[in-house]
Amino acid sequence: MRIGLVAPPGAGKGTQSARIAAHLGIPHICTGDILRDHVSRGTDTGRKVSHYLDRGDLVPDEILCDTIHQALSDAIAAGGDYILDGMPRTMEQARTIHRVSSELGMAADVVLHLRADDETVTRRMLARAAIEHRSDDTEPAIQRRLALYHEMTEPILAWYAFRGILVTVDATRTAAEVGREILTVLEVLRPVIRNVPEKMRRPVDLTMLHQTAPV
Ligand code: ADP
Repeated sequence: MRIGLVAPPGAGKGTQSARIAAHLGIPHICTGDILRDHVSRGTDTGRKVSHYLDRGDLVPDEILCDTIHQALSDAIAAGGDYILDGMPRTMEQARTIHRVSSELGMAADVVLHLRADDETVTRRMLARAAIEHRSDDTEPAIQRRLALYHEMTEPILAWYAFRGILVTVDATRTAAEVGREILTVLEVLRPVIRNVPEKMRRPVDLTMLHQTAPV
């Protein structure tokens, strides 16, 4: 299965993608990890991107384009499935991925949206800062990342919904609860993806299930 992921920072993209990748036995492509790895190894790319990461800004598209092309080629060699975490973050990136992955016969079958409010994700990132010391888990960088998410990334969701491949889950619950729901929905969707053409599919919003009805 080929899975895209869209979520605000701190919603649990990394945690959930690692679980999905392990469960399905597919490569986990994480643009944030790839970039942080360049920084820690001190490569040319690492030197170019480190100040963007520290400020919570978006890394320029041309750097990401090479990265994603390489990662998708590696995924082909590993069987053609993947979970892509951290990209797209802009409509331009969404178009690029769609073009590149379609050319390679690797377009996403489903895009998972982990929905979480700003207050919850800010609390999580500040708690993580005390343990992991990520350079962008500071208050100004968190605010910048959230602002960019709302301005640049969130609008892409409408495009995936329109294409019928979007699945939205409530990511404010525990990682275990969110993970169980994601794996369940992916298993249920597996035959749908195989048998129902994209244009006949509808977006799925599971967040409604968790709202308590007024009494
Ligand atoms: P988070 O979602 O918590 O911000 P990530 O690990 O996904 O964490 O990304 C960390 C940083 O890496 C981003 O703030 C940004 O600087 C850079 N980055 C990752 N993916 C992209 C992308 N697709 N486009 C531009 N910058 C990116």
